[in-house]
Amino acid sequence: MSMNNKPKIGVYVCHCGVNISKTVDVNELTEYAKQLPYVEVARDYSYMCSDPGQLLIKEDIKKNGLNRVVVAACSPRMHELTFRRALAGAGLNPYYLEIANIREQCSWVHKDKSEGTAKAKKLVSAAVAKARLLEPLQEKEVSVEPATLIIGGGIAGIQAALDIAGAGFKVYLVEKTPSIGGKMSQLDKTFPTLDCSACILTPKMVDVASHPNIELMTYSQVEKISGYVGNFNVEVRKKARFVDFEKCTGCGVCAEECRLAGRVPSEFNMELGNRSAVYLPFPQAVPAKYTIDPQRCLMLTRGKCGKSPKCADACAPGAIDFEQKDEIKEFKVGTVIVATGFDVFDAARKPEYGYSDYDNVLTGLEMERLISASGPTGGKIVLGKGEGEVIPRDIAFIKCVGSRDKSTGNEYCSRVCCMYTAKLAHLVKEKIPEANVKVYYMDVRAFGKGFEEFYDRVRREGVRYIRGNPSEIFKRNGKLVIKVENTLNSTPLEDEVDMVVLAVGLEPRKDAREVIDLLRLSQSSDRFFLEAHPKLAPVDTATEGVFLAGCAQGPKDIPDTVAQAKGAASSALVLMASGKVKVHAQISFVNEATCRGCGYCVEICPYTAVELVTVNKMGNEVLVARVNEALCKGCGACAAGCLSGSIQQKSFMDSQILQQIAVLGGK
Ligand SMILES: Cc1cc2nc3c(=O)[nH]c(=O)nc-3n(C[C@H](O)[C@H](O)[C@H](O)COP(=O)(O)OP(=O)(O)OC[C@H]3O[C@@H](n4cnc5c(N)ncnc54)[C@H](O)[C@@H]3O)c2cc1C
Repeated sequence: MSMNNKPKIGVYVCHCGVNISKTVDVNELTEYAKQLPYVEVARDYSYMCSDPGQLLIKEDIKKNGLNRVVVAACSPRMHELTFRRALAGAGLNPYYLEIANIREQCSWVHKDKSEGTAKAKKLVSAAVAKARLLEPLQEKEVSVEPATLIIGGGIAGIQAALDIAGAGFKVYLVEKTPSIGGKMSQLDKTFPTLDCSACILTPKMVDVASHPNIELMTYSQVEKISGYVGNFNVEVRKKARFVDFEKCTGCGVCAEECRLAGRVPSEFNMELGNRSAVYLPFPQAVPAKYTIDPQRCLMLTRGKCGKSPKCADACAPGAIDFEQKDEIKEFKVGTVIVATGFDVFDAARKPEYGYSDYDNVLTGLEMERLISASGPTGGKIVLGKGEGEVIPRDIAFIKCVGSRDKSTGNEYCSRVCCMYTAKLAHLVKEKIPEANVKVYYMDVRAFGKGFEEFYDRVRREGVRYIRGNPSEIFKRNGKLVIKVENTLNSTPLEDEVDMVVLAVGLEPRKDAREVIDLLRLSQSSDRFFLEAHPKLAPVDTATEGVFLAGCAQGPKDIPDTVAQAKGAASSALVLMASGKVKVHAQISFVNEATCRGCGYCVEICPYTAVELVTVNKMGNEVLVARVNEALCKGCGACAAGCLSGSIQQKSFMDSQILQQIAVLGGK
């Protein structure tokens, strides 16, 4: 340490109202700090993060020539940036700041004031010891590519794409299935306003397809993403549709002529209806281009389809192309939005409800298709087919199937099932007014705008709510019997019904791992993607420049999905509009002289920020580790794991940490 940089430290003790001062004697702590080595000034203040609190620091830096600052307050996660800005505002390098966390790590965990004060003194003396050795750091900036990749074309991805494209930035929207729309496209009407789902969704889907700033890639999958915030390199596989995209007019003659016409279960109709091997998933699909199902098409599975494939013969523009290959598209984006949505709970995992055994036990999403005018029955609620078709009279809904249920691993509430049950019950009464409709429930959660009013309306329409969680469903004399205890009057019941609808919950997608691996995302305990902060950064992730929208982050209804998609879009836009982003300054660096090139750091770096490069050491070509400064997030894993001690992290150098330990170990 040169003499002209002799440490002159200011210590600032925050009361945080009574959060700290109730269990830490802030006056005693301030007096204690005054006599620590190199401390020029120590002060306390009620709220150090407030403007007057920051002003105290700034004035001392200028007046007393402070060159290091220790703030004893809350966690650095809360206000480190605030105080760094205060230092910079007074002309001091912002990294000459050290925080002693005397709130979360001290006052909040102590009841006894003398114990709290003693611990705070230790934390402050350790911070002062480290502050002495702090080095100035420079923040670098990288440019941000003005384009966004959106993964998932449900309502979340669609909304985010339209907002970003509308602001003048390029969007690449990648959807796995042949059409955008997600689950919303499968819904009949939407609670609580009963808007027709297709009527409000289709215009947005069409806008996506026609927007000059949106490049839509359906039936496609992101294979690789490398790079860092502002500069992601993306590789997308556009799967072969075996239909020439440019030539296909969407006329549908191929599907009519297909030898398997009406014989392939339709995913869109939840397998309650059939399609052809060459298909459009649903009439309003976007793009309106046909796709040949490679698992079903006789030409693609067996190499022949009668004398010749009838679809190809019938297609006037000659769009059928069995030789078509997958295409790889590469491009660069500055930001990424993950909008991959959810899976519905597999009702077969609750065998007591007989979903796998009885055709008249349906899930909520199957009921949506049955009720929909574009569904397999044209909107008629019927059991059986053809001559044996009957209209059910007694219909029961069972709520919380696969939600709020530890036995399925899903302790959370799926947030939409109470209301979609009320909606479906209403639609049943609308279509079959004489039907007896009952809902078996644990609680009714009608928390959103207009929800309680809708729930009241449905009960007024004659839908009966019975509090009880059925234990079993079995068949007796051709009827389904629901065994349940009415928990409001403790009466055991056996209810005979014609049809049961299971209000299945929302689950993380089974293929979520693909996206986790691509972007190094984390999952919360419910296995949905984890946001950076549940309150203050609900659309951000730990990977900078990557945002979350919709049910990929957790169960939510359409209004909340749209709101979150708009939030994710605006976060992406902030980065792209500013055109540049600061990269972390407290990053790792390698001492190449001692590095043995073992590569352990490469393995453990969660951000793929470390690589092995060949260098010449005394005439020999050897491998050494090197840190990509733009990718490094300063997590310190490589520095902690380095077997030869050759990696250090700025602001967390061994020398600095050892000083802290020495002070903490002393009396
Ligand atoms: C039975 C039922 C009824 C409902 N009724 C209502 C209602 O009436 N009102 C209401 O407000 N809400 C309702 N909801 C909730 C509503 O469905 C969701 O809020 C909405 O669908 C969430 O949209 P999303 O875009 O987040 O997800 P999704 O709709 O699941 O869309 C995600 C999209 O991402 C695609 N995708 C997934 N992984 C990838 C990948 N790796 N690469 C590319 N693409 C990928 C999927 O194919 C899909 O198209 C209901 C839900 C259910 C289950």
